[in-house]
Amino acid sequence: MTFEELDLDPVLLSAIEQQKYHKPTPVQEAAIPILMERQDILAGAATGTGKTAAFVLPALQYLLEEPQRSNQPRVLILAPTRELAFQIHKVVKQLGTHCDFPSVIITGGFKMSQQMEHLRQPCDILVATPGRLAKIMEEDAVDLSNIEILIIDEADRMLDMGQGPTVRALIEAIPGDFQAGLFSATLSGSGIEKFAAEILDNPQVVQIDAPNQKSQQVQQLVYLANDKAHKQALLTNILLDASCQSAIVFCNKKERAIEITEFLQSQNLSAQVLHGDFIQAVRMEKMQKFQSGKIKILVATDVAARGLDMLNITHVINYDMPFRGDIYIHRIGRTGRAQQVGVAINLVERHDLVNLERIEYHLQQKLPVEKIAGLEPNFTMKDALKKATTKKKPKKTAKKTTKKAVKKKR
Ligand code: AMP
Repeated sequence: MTFEELDLDPVLLSAIEQQKYHKPTPVQEAAIPILMERQDILAGAATGTGKTAAFVLPALQYLLEEPQRSNQPRVLILAPTRELAFQIHKVVKQLGTHCDFPSVIITGGFKMSQQMEHLRQPCDILVATPGRLAKIMEEDAVDLSNIEILIIDEADRMLDMGQGPTVRALIEAIPGDFQAGLFSATLSGSGIEKFAAEILDNPQVVQIDAPNQKSQQVQQLVYLANDKAHKQALLTNILLDASCQSAIVFCNKKERAIEITEFLQSQNLSAQVLHGDFIQAVRMEKMQKFQSGKIKILVATDVAARGLDMLNITHVINYDMPFRGDIYIHRIGRTGRAQQVGVAINLVERHDLVNLERIEYHLQQKLPVEKIAGLEPNFTMKDALKKATTKKKPKKTAKKTTKKAVKKKR
């Protein structure tokens, strides 16, 4: 199937082309027609499947087909975390680049007064995390009475994070009929079925397999690190182990990749840095040296490692945890190729836990935490998670919720 066959407006097709999406992903193929037919949808699709465009495109298409002057949002997209909300908002901007639909993002971590100011401007699409939106509603700074499309993304994670009551309260604040889409990595457990039954009206159900089932040939594990020095000691220890013949060490930023390379070189390890600033010829040269075994360790950023497709990489080490599950999958996909066994190691400081959690959610599995003798961490995962949850007390919701959210019928 092509995007043209999905009957999308030419302005959207042009944005799709700019994003270099050549053809719809399975979730797009399944969900776009359902949403364009104005039906409710329950979609089992994780990050990395292209789910964001699967709901953003039909929402934009609807706004194009049903233009209306409104100063209040007509599309509401709820996401459990700030990072995901920003990611979605970015896709709204990218795919809506040739349309004139103002969008606003509302999440915690920013000044409420500024966000309320943004909401005073025209807004067709509102992307929000539930807690902050509820607070803004307490201030009467947003009106949800014009909402015609509601998308709830990563609904299972929302429920796991205890956001269910807040989301229900927000939904109750929408007086009219609306089309609803609920996206979730998993469709069973976390009370997702009950939640979906409350919100959706006779939904079409689609289940897309996540592209995250990396072959069993890659052993994934986590080492906890107290601080930078401990992390570097763990890294050196892993790289010096006899099982490690060639490794890619991933960093999120060029500066860190340079710093780590210099550190490894100071430890007499054969390491080279590969980041996006190198011209293609230099990159190729480094990759060739790595492939031929002249360099044992490549310290790379994600951009630079694109296209790095070679056998014999025994270790992928995430010095920095990636921000997204699909990036993690790409990274660990560098090892364990063609029947070879590989190891993917995640070095996790306390501040990396939020990224680890997101990746585990994406994988739908907990990664085993292991220790290296003599380099044991001074905290456990349990301690760290306990601290994180006691710090962040759940916020009061905007409205008292009733037991059952009202089902909206169109
Ligand atoms: P998502 O699951 O929405 O987080 O998307 C995962 C990644 O897939 C993002 O980097 C998107 O830009 C990309 N993507 C989404 N749709 C397509 C498509 N049809 N073709 C290629 N890449 C896509």
